[in-house]
Amino acid sequence: MQNLKIMDAEGSKLQLIRQENKWQIVSPFKNPISFEYEVVLGHREFECDLDTSPYLKPDCILWTGRALFFENRAKNIEVLFHIPQNWKISTPWISNSSPKKIFFVKNNSELNQSLIVIGLHLEKQLKIKNTEILIAIGGKYKQLQEQIVNIIHKGFVEFSNIFGGIPLGKKLIVINPYELGKYGFQGGVLNNSASVLTSYYPDGINSFWFTRVVLHEICHLWNGSVIRAKYHRRCTWFLEGFTDYYTLVVAKRLNFINKQQFLTFLEYAFNHYHLKIQKHSLVDNFQRRNRRFVYHGGFLVALFLDIRIRLESKKNLDNLMKIMFHTYRRKGYRYRIRDIMEIAEHLSSKKFNVFFKKYIYGKHALPLQTYAPQLGVKIYKEEITLPYFSLKSIVNIPEGIAFKEDIKSLIIKINSTVVTSKKDIVKELSKNSLEDKELLFFLKEGKQITQYATFSNSNTKVIYYSLKPIITKKITILDKILREKR
Ligand SMILES: [Zn+2]
Repeated sequence: MQNLKIMDAEGSKLQLIRQENKWQIVSPFKNPISFEYEVVLGHREFECDLDTSPYLKPDCILWTGRALFFENRAKNIEVLFHIPQNWKISTPWISNSSPKKIFFVKNNSELNQSLIVIGLHLEKQLKIKNTEILIAIGGKYKQLQEQIVNIIHKGFVEFSNIFGGIPLGKKLIVINPYELGKYGFQGGVLNNSASVLTSYYPDGINSFWFTRVVLHEICHLWNGSVIRAKYHRRCTWFLEGFTDYYTLVVAKRLNFINKQQFLTFLEYAFNHYHLKIQKHSLVDNFQRRNRRFVYHGGFLVALFLDIRIRLESKKNLDNLMKIMFHTYRRKGYRYRIRDIMEIAEHLSSKKFNVFFKKYIYGKHALPLQTYAPQLGVKIYKEEITLPYFSLKSIVNIPEGIAFKEDIKSLIIKINSTVVTSKKDIVKELSKNSLEDKELLFFLKEGKQITQYATFSNSNTKVIYYSLKPIITKKITILDKILREKR
């Protein structure tokens, strides 16, 4: 923000003193006062995480309320936009004007915790039960509007069935291309607004990843926006892991993915989780380090909890999510880890303290083998030697690419984050510990390879678990979760 001017009722400019992010008016003034300022979009796409930060695209701009407006205590706020005639404004706010340029906002939190898309993007509207959903689509995704609206519509309905209701208020879902690298995505939710930046397409080979990121962010409109933790850093496994679990369960129930894709993800998640569980527990305070371990660990906890509740009772994890939604949608209510445990105990009439002690607070690996029959798979364990990328080779590479001379490989992704320069690699590695085993996507003699690897100076051996489905007529618990009909 720059060139801030504050005028009082008589038009005189007031004297201000700035203290970090606050300003103090020092001259006497007459109410009402008016503010004039310019907002700056200073960062570029590759410089920061854009999940809920403003960005500029060739056809539209995304703002957050918190980047545009001052904190204030006002209620019933009216926001008027002056924009070129053919432009649109998409927000989760209510507007009665036509064209929509004047918006009514209940309070400061709704003003600041919202996304605003301005420009020549495409707008689609849905109404599910009494909830209005506005979809803002930019760039190349305009051509794929039908598939996108279909995924959002069906996904939203299925989530409202799982949670047993819809959070209050109009929703905004923004879909825009993510230009950074060939493959990648980012997403985030601010109250009633969800943002998806992706380079994947809703059709073709990457539709799994497209559907996953869109459904994941929609699920956060419940789990994250409404169901909120008291100590959120200790509950990332529930926030992200359970969101990922329901993302894939919903994607399968709606047949956007098949059972094999679910199992492939499970194998990937389990192996990634297994590489780190001996060192960390799911409640460790990670910040950005090892975030994916917590996502995958939480995904597996959700699956195991679902199986356990189904084995012990006629209930399932959907019932737990319903209780979570109806309890924590109440103003000021936040959950703690023991609340999740108590709901699971209430549903199944079994004790879950050992489960939580071992797998949530502790560093025990969830017993994938034990539940193989419920998953309908056979699990094969093998010791594999991980390829390695020496730290020296990364430090010494010229700016531009990551290169390992002896195998002529080019690192293109680390844990699904696209890396195109040494800076990217160092940034991605700083989220993890050196010597940790990471999932790398690299080009070996022109062929894309996905494999665990280490950033170290020698080979490391690890146990790799592969899941092979068994052919049977029996309906397994996993089939029931995914509602597989035979
Ligand atoms: Zn998330």
